[in-house]
Order: sequence, then structure tokens, then C-alpha cells
Amino acid sequence: MAAPQWQTESARHLWRPYTQMKTAPPPLPVVGAEGVHLTLADGRRLVDGVSSWWTACHGHRHPHIMAAVRDQLDRLPHVMLGGIVHPMAATLATRLARLCPGDLDHVFFSESGSVSVEVAMKAALQWWQHRGEAGRTRFVAFAGGYHGDTLATMSVCDPEEGMHRRFAGAIAQQVIAPVPRTLAERARVQALLDAHQDTLAGVILEPLVQGAGGMRFHDVDTLRWLRRETEARGLLLIFDEIMTGFGRLGHTLACEAAGVVPDLLTLSKALTGGTLPLAATVARTAVFESFWHDDPERALMHGPTYMGNALACAAAHASLDLFDQEPRLQQARAIEAQLAAGLAPLARHEGVVDVRWRGALGVVQLAGPADRDAWVAHAAARGVWLRPFNDVVYTAPPLVIDADSLQAIVDTIATGLGAGLR
Ligand SMILES: *Cc1c(COP(=O)(O)O)cnc(C)c1O
Repeated sequence: MAAPQWQTESARHLWRPYTQMKTAPPPLPVVGAEGVHLTLADGRRLVDGVSSWWTACHGHRHPHIMAAVRDQLDRLPHVMLGGIVHPMAATLATRLARLCPGDLDHVFFSESGSVSVEVAMKAALQWWQHRGEAGRTRFVAFAGGYHGDTLATMSVCDPEEGMHRRFAGAIAQQVIAPVPRTLAERARVQALLDAHQDTLAGVILEPLVQGAGGMRFHDVDTLRWLRRETEARGLLLIFDEIMTGFGRLGHTLACEAAGVVPDLLTLSKALTGGTLPLAATVARTAVFESFWHDDPERALMHGPTYMGNALACAAAHASLDLFDQEPRLQQARAIEAQLAAGLAPLARHEGVVDVRWRGALGVVQLAGPADRDAWVAHAAARGVWLRPFNDVVYTAPPLVIDADSLQAIVDTIATGLGAGLR
């Protein structure tokens, strides 16, 4: 396929993410999307096997979301949130407060997942300042974790997979611990919590599945244990549900599956159903009330320009309507059953060290780094869009995917392994 002119012209103007642009194959030119499909410039259609970085939970261009955004565009696309309030941000905050468990009732909007994590970290630092313990500035984060690409969020990513080495000296030193699954790991986490007890502000984890750090799983017991340990020590527990939220694992939120209420929760990715950038940091009442004070210095010190963007909030409302009106969680569970049947047999392939699935997420872990370019080409030739990372070939399809399209994804992974792709 010849690249369209707009693509060749922009080849050095458009700076692409995580890409050695000199040697990488050109990106796929996508000119449209509908339902589970992406449309390429030459008219071919690919099943979006990763929901465009796990955002398009209702498929692309769902008519209900499109209509809500169009309607909002006619009314009020955007207005600053400093000193001004508009109904879309206000009602979405109320709705998210109702949706989140316990007294996670206070919603701060931003425009990207990384920023929502930064806001959670800053809120935790300020919480300790309010208590006269400004020296508590560090976080316990976990091996295999991923919380974003900004300088502060990089510091709480996995130190090996993440970018710690490259930016050593520029990013904060956090306390990196193993995810406390086993007794030995729990003892190790306790020892770290003890050793750093005077400097810790909180603990941050992606509940149930760590996403971009390697798609590693843990269970509800780990979350309950961590909740008990942090509570006993008065540490704030932050759950980053940017990947796990909104049905990906078969629950509205992963923390609900565990019956655990963190002190701070971050949401983004599928919040707008894959249409517009929006993120939220949700705090429990005790955290919020620590800022509720006569002293102006105790305000939460953050305020992104596009926070609470009205178009994005309208999209989020419409996306939440769809969760209310359509059986998304059942669909996630049906996907899980099909992934279980399709992926389990792949464990026998040489070079595969593990296969696992949870909700609408299926993972094949290889013995070494995946040959990403070869996998992308293999999948695209079969009408599927996949993008492995590190040693992981995975699918996180739109929750609305039909059985045949999901089978096409599973078959693509199977034939890739069968053909010796690693
Ligand atoms: C994607 C992701 C982020 C970062 O979100 P951006 O919108 O890319 O800044 C943070 N945490 C988790 C768990 C994510 O999956």
C-alpha cells in the first residue's frame, strides 16, 4: 500500500510516541473508525484489538456519544473552570461520586491519566502538610506498575520497565516494592513500610491488573491486605483505575470487586468511551475535608486549563448512559469466556511463558521481548490491529465486540505463534 500524501509529507513533522522514527516502519494510516473497526486510507478495515489504548469500550463512534458531543458543541464546547462552573462538569462530578464506592465523593477533573495521578500524589502531599508532616513526600509503588509518563508519575512506575534509568537524577526516588501476593512479599512490603515510615505519604497501585508495566494480575486479597496495612499506618492508599475502570475486568471498578475503598482513585482511558481526553481524581471525604478550611493556603494546588472540558464531560455522561442502558459488564464476561477457550491452548507454544485473561483482557506472555513490528504486520494482514509491548502480546477489545471479530483476534495470535512469531 502506498502511503497517502499527507502521511509522507508529515513523516518528520509528526513526532510519534515511544518510536525510533528513523528505523520504525511507517504507522498505519487510519482515516475512519466505526464500531470495532478502524478504516485504513486504502479502504481496508482492521478490528481494533486494543480499543485504541483501552479507551473505546463501546466501539468507535457510538451514536449516543456522538449525539451528546454534537449537542454540547452547539451549547458550550469549553469554558475555564476557575471561578466558573458549567452543568456538564457539575453533573458529571455528582454522577461519578454516586458511581464510586463508599465516600469517594469528591471529583477533580484533568485532561490526562498522568495528570490525574499527579493530582492524587499532590493531594496526598498536601494532606500530610496539613498535619504538620511536610517531610512525608515519598510513595510506595510496585514492581510492574505503570502510572504515566510525566516526571512524577514515572517515579512510581516499574523501575526496570519504566524510564527510571534514562531519567535517573531527574525523577524522585520512591520506595519500590513487590506486589504483596505471597507471605514473603507481604513481609517485604511490611519491612519497607517500617523502614520508611517517617517519609511516606502513601501507597499507589493499579488494582487487580497492572497494565502497561506488563499486564500482571493479582487478586482481591492483595488489595484487602494493602488496605488494612495502609489504614493501620495512617497512609493514604491510591488506586489507579485508569486501565481497570469502566468494565475492562468485568466490574465497573476493580476496587468494588474487592470491596475496598481507597483514599484516592484515578480514572481516565474509557471514561469518555474513547472519544475525548478527560481524567478524574476522586477523593474520599476525609481527604477532601482536609482541604476544606478558612486558610486559602489549604486549597488543592492544581488547575489544568482544559479541566472539566464540557465536550469531554458530555461524552463521559453519554458513555456512562451506555453502561446503564446496555449490558457492558455481561459482554465483558462473555469476552472472558471466549478468551479463556481461545488463549488457554496457546500455553503449549514454545516461547510462551504464560497465558492469562481477566474480563475483556487477554494476555500471552513471551519468554523475551515481542517482535512488535512483525506482530503488527502479521495482524494487519489478517484484518486485526494489535500492538504488543515488551514481552506481552495482548488484546483488550471493545466490550461490544462480536464473537466472530473476537475469534479473528484470537486466531491472529494463534497463527502468529504457530508461524514462529515471538
Ligand atoms: C494510561 C495509563 C496512565 C496514563 O494515562 P495518560 O492519559 O496516558 O497520561 C496512568 N495509569 C494507568 C494505569 C494507565 O493505564
